[in-house]
Amino acid sequence: MAISTLLCDLDGTLLPMDTENFMKQYMRLLAQRVSPYMPAQEFVHKLLAATHKMVINNDPLKTNREVFNEEFFGSTGLRKEELSPVFEDFYSRDFPSLAQYTKPNAVARQVLAKAQSKGLTLVVATNPVFPMTAIRERLRWAGVDDFGFRLVTSYEEMHFCKPNPNYYREILDYLKVNPEECLMVGNDAEEDLVAGELKITTFLVEDCLIQRGTMNQRPDYQGSMTDLLRLLETL
Ligand SMILES: [Mg+2]
Repeated sequence: MAISTLLCDLDGTLLPMDTENFMKQYMRLLAQRVSPYMPAQEFVHKLLAATHKMVINNDPLKTNREVFNEEFFGSTGLRKEELSPVFEDFYSRDFPSLAQYTKPNAVARQVLAKAQSKGLTLVVATNPVFPMTAIRERLRWAGVDDFGFRLVTSYEEMHFCKPNPNYYREILDYLKVNPEECLMVGNDAEEDLVAGELKITTFLVEDCLIQRGTMNQRPDYQGSMTDLLRLLETL
């Protein structure tokens, strides 16, 4: 079946970065902002716990944001009404400084332009653990925020996280497409390649490869973003 839809991961794929270091810097900065309400170390601990809860959640009736908020505000005793404006302000004023921990690659734009010229539907299949504002910001850093994405998976909208295969099922249902007509591109040998379990074609981008132990799922293709560009030319 011909490929009609390109699902692209963001961190380490469209936007080259050392994801582990980026997350560390992000949490450090956010903890600093929240420090008037909670000691930094305790905050990071609760943030990670609530994020974990969101990642393992498999309840289709709760958005990722709902799971996160329940756990985070439940465990910290902080008030959502008080903290939400602090978080919002963080994302608009502090978050942009994290661009320094990323290394935009012009090929990302060429890949999306090529896919678009081939008539493919474009989806940003980033792990939906972030609010849309933070995802839009990173798309800007990558220089690709002006593309007409059919779907950008955010924590406000989605009900599952990678590496849960239900994350990919939800995308397929939303787009009303067959797995066989999708190509998932990502840099994480677990979180992105799990799409292969659903018969989605996968491309493992090696530029910022993340591989924890053995690969359970083999990619259909693997190589650099430039190799991906060449593959798209053949579609
Ligand atoms: Mg990634």
